[in-house]
Amino acid sequence: MEKLILVTGASRGIGSAILENLIGQVDGTFVGTATSQKGLDSINDLLKRTGATGQAMLWNALEKDSADGLVSEIKRQYGMAPNILINNAGITRDQLLLRMKSADWDDVIQANLTACFHLTQICCKSMLRARWGRIVNMSSVAAVTGNPGQTNYAAAKAGMIAFSKSLAMEVASRHITVNCVCPGFIDTEMLDGLTDDRKKSVYDLIPMGRFGTTDEIAHAVSFLVSDLSAYITGSCLHVNGGLVML
Ligand code: NAP
Repeated sequence: MEKLILVTGASRGIGSAILENLIGQVDGTFVGTATSQKGLDSINDLLKRTGATGQAMLWNALEKDSADGLVSEIKRQYGMAPNILINNAGITRDQLLLRMKSADWDDVIQANLTACFHLTQICCKSMLRARWGRIVNMSSVAAVTGNPGQTNYAAAKAGMIAFSKSLAMEVASRHITVNCVCPGFIDTEMLDGLTDDRKKSVYDLIPMGRFGTTDEIAHAVSFLVSDLSAYITGSCLHVNGGLVML
């Protein structure tokens, strides 16, 4: 079966590592999304360097209803919708609850959870017709532990887990799997806000004593996309150096 792989937020960090690892593993066409020209250039450079077929596309998860436009453009160019969907793009707007603005709540729910719903709904239609598909949603350890300052983010990421489990039940009979990866602390720009002191105190909480690498998350995604995981659905793969053992 022809494979079309869509990785959202593929310009840097975890998404870029996912895209690169899947290029090495899957024979198919690859689309990675970014919100800026710089991000598009970085994805196109990766595709060129690895000799992969595909392209970068502009997509902003904060723009409501933008999923339709993205998938329509993919269908127009490649004649099919993605049958491997990695909902990786995500944002944080951290703030203690009493200081949190409604916009910080809305944006985080929109970019992490609602955009995942829209993209998944559109891509799922053709996966159901083809009776095959892989969906991996990037959640977070914060979804299962909570995190002060992240009521919005933790709620969105927990929503992704419940969404994935429910959908997994709906589509399992059609050979479509829906799973989450829950990273702990991974060394990307998303953690740039942590001071050195805070980083050190976090290392002390992690049995492995370090942050994870983007490749270590990408390997979990690669597994959930591969045939090796054909019987795994509605699961969360926790990749956190032992920070939380579930
Ligand atoms: P990152 O380094 O901040 O990269 C975020 C990616 O998402 C970029 O490709 C970015 O594209 C894209 N993005 C940002 N805002 C977007 C928007 N409004 N619409 C569409 N795409 C947008 O983040 P990361 O650390 O790689 O995180 C990737 C995923 O893992 C996220 O869902 C995050 O919540 C989750 N996660 C990360 C950690 C961690 O410790 N890093 C832990 C748990 C979960 P541009 O380059 O165009 O901005």
